[in-house]
Amino acid sequence: MMGNEEEIARIARRLDKMVTKKSAEGAMDLLRELKVMPVTLHLLQSTRIGMSVNALRKQSSDEEVIALSKSLIKSWKKLLDTSDSKAGERRNTSLASPPAKATSEAKAPSCKRPEPPRTLPTPRMTTFPPTPISCDAVRNKCRQMLAEALQTDQDHVAIGADCQHLSAQIEEFIFRDVGSTDIKYKNRVRSRISNLKDAKNPGLRRSVLRGTIEPQRIAEMTSEEMASDELKEIRKAMTREAIREHQMARMGGTHTDLFTCNRCRRKNCTYTQVQTRSSDEPMTTFVVCNECGNRWKFC
Ligand SMILES: [Zn+2]
Repeated sequence: MMGNEEEIARIARRLDKMVTKKSAEGAMDLLRELKVMPVTLHLLQSTRIGMSVNALRKQSSDEEVIALSKSLIKSWKKLLDTSDSKAGERRNTSLASPPAKATSEAKAPSCKRPEPPRTLPTPRMTTFPPTPISCDAVRNKCRQMLAEALQTDQDHVAIGADCQHLSAQIEEFIFRDVGSTDIKYKNRVRSRISNLKDAKNPGLRRSVLRGTIEPQRIAEMTSEEMASDELKEIRKAMTREAIREHQMARMGGTHTDLFTCNRCRRKNCTYTQVQTRSSDEPMTTFVVCNECGNRWKFC
C-alpha cells in the first residue's frame, strides 16, 4: 500500500509541475498510470491527487487529457460520495472544486500543495465561498484564461492566492451579471484579462489576488475603474490641460511682447498664469503665440 501512495504522490508532483509550467507533455502517460492504479479514499486524501488532476484538466487544451482527467475525477468522486454517506466525519467535498475543502483536517488547498503532502497543517487559504462548478466549455475556458491572467508575473506565488478558485468566482459573477455567454460576456471576460495582465497595472492584479478587490467587484468594474494609476494620471492631466486651455481661450489671457516664440521667433504672445497643483507651488505660465499658434508653458 505504501508503494502505491508514494507512486501516486510522485505523479501528483509531476502533474503539479506541468500545471506550473503550463506544459502537459507526458500527462497522458501519467493519467493512464493512474487509471490502472487502485485508488482508495485514504490515498485520495493523503496525496491530494484529485487536486492535481483537476488543475491539469482545467489548464489543458488537449481533448484527450481533459477526457481522461474527467473520467478519473468522476471515478474518485464516487469514492468520496460513498464515504460521505457512510462516515459522517469525513465530510470531504467534491474533487471538482478543490478549494471547497470544508474539513478541519484538510491540508492547504491546490495551488500550493505542501511537499511532501503529509506535513503539518499549513495556514489555509480562503476557501469560502466554495468554488462554483461549471460544465460549460466556454465558461471553463474563460475561467482558465482568467486564471492565467491572474498568474501573470507569478505574483500569486508570493501572495499565496488560489488562482483557480479566484478565476472561477470572477467568472461566475460575470456570468450571473450578464446572464449568458454571448458577446457581452466575452467582452467582459476579455477586458478583465487584458487589465489583469497589463504590465503597467500590477496593482490591479495584486489587489485581486490579495482580495482587496473582491471577485464580484472585479467582475463588474468599468474599464475606467480598472485602468492603471498611470493611465488615470494621464487622463486627469489631459482633463486639467483641457480646462486650462478653455479658461485661457475664454479669458483671453494677457497680450505681451515679453516672450519670443521659438517656432516663429516673433514676439506676439498671449499668456495666462494658473495655479496648477497646490497653492504653495509656483504658478505655471501658459503662453500662446498669436502668430503661429505655438503653445508652451513654464513654471
Ligand atoms: Zn510663433
